[in-house]
Amino acid sequence: MFEPRTYLYTYLQKRFVFFFLSLFLIGQLMAQTIERKCVETTTYYDKGAHDALEIATENYLKQSHSLAASRGKINIPVVVHIVYPTEAENISDAQVFSQIDALNRDFNLENTNLDRVHPDFKNRIGKVGFNFCLATIDPTGQPTTGITRTPTNDDFEYSRGATWIYHTPEGGKTAWNTTQYLNIWVTKTGLGIAGFGSKPNQNPLEQDGIILSVDYFGQEGTALPNYRLGRVGTHEVAHYFNVFHNWGLGECGHDDFVADTPIQSTSYNGCPNIDESSCDSRDITANFMNNSQDACLAMFTKGQAMRMQAALIHARSGLLNGNSCEPYLPTVSREEIKVYPNPASYYYCIEVGDASLAQIPYFVYDSKGAKVEEGVVTPNSIQHFPTYRNGVYFIQFLNGEEAPLVKKIVINN
Ligand SMILES: [Zn+2]
Repeated sequence: MFEPRTYLYTYLQKRFVFFFLSLFLIGQLMAQTIERKCVETTTYYDKGAHDALEIATENYLKQSHSLAASRGKINIPVVVHIVYPTEAENISDAQVFSQIDALNRDFNLENTNLDRVHPDFKNRIGKVGFNFCLATIDPTGQPTTGITRTPTNDDFEYSRGATWIYHTPEGGKTAWNTTQYLNIWVTKTGLGIAGFGSKPNQNPLEQDGIILSVDYFGQEGTALPNYRLGRVGTHEVAHYFNVFHNWGLGECGHDDFVADTPIQSTSYNGCPNIDESSCDSRDITANFMNNSQDACLAMFTKGQAMRMQAALIHARSGLLNGNSCEPYLPTVSREEIKVYPNPASYYYCIEVGDASLAQIPYFVYDSKGAKVEEGVVTPNSIQHFPTYRNGVYFIQFLNGEEAPLVKKIVINN
């Protein structure tokens, strides 16, 4: 016999269960989305070159010198390619700057969360000493912000191994010369993929660099709450400089080829305790090569830092040859800059013949070499009203040529 009330009850019960089951599944899906994943592959485009780098790295580690001490400041020019399916992924310049800041913090031991490091490992903390900067000169020699923006098909997202991202005709952005720039592509990625960093010789040259999800990039904007310190970028850049995950290829039998990182069985995620252990030894849970949340990561080891230095010297030395971290300076001749009247009373003008020469920095020194004024040249001639006293002064204009251009002016008020 049909009993409407029971039927209704069962129907509602089913709907109820379905509703909560749906909530559960959506929750699971979201949990996966905010758990980060890094795509590390162990295949190499040029295995021979990779093996040679490993031998060169071993030799480098036997020497006990500091790369930073021998070379001074080590600038790594970066270009960030924003490939955006929708405006939501067309992130701001400020978000890009915040990622560069994060790299410089973590590669130069300027982070303040070393309490995440177990006391056993404090003496292993390593400083890599690389200075990352957005490129100021593009591959054709023109000034650039070091950021490119490319709209793509609104259902495009990066998935593991996809190559369209590397090619403008396929909807991505063709790399800038990968031997001279660290190319970082920022885009929408498939579920949970936070990033990918190609080790030296892992990808063909036109695919060499890093891919980062907009969800895990920088310290503001689209970055997810637990990944808002730019440390997925830190991790992927370390891969780019030939550092492996702490757990090597997984399980206790595999190593990461770094002597001062303990053997570790698998990745840490979330925010692990600092005294976790695996494979019969304490692990460095705060090591940047884990997949933990940003706030819970704090260090590279000295061994990892030296591995990166070896990779820079032996596989990525082209990054050191350009001067594309320096401010862009046009070449300017003596005739192209006019300073008048001279001698000057009460005011003088600085004028450039061509608007493209504007923005050249200048510095005014007195006869004893003390700097009394500085500024940048503007396209229109601007009157200067010096407050310094009468005498001879030297105006130094920075120049794309090696030597700055100097003009003398006499102030006679
Ligand atoms: Zn990784």
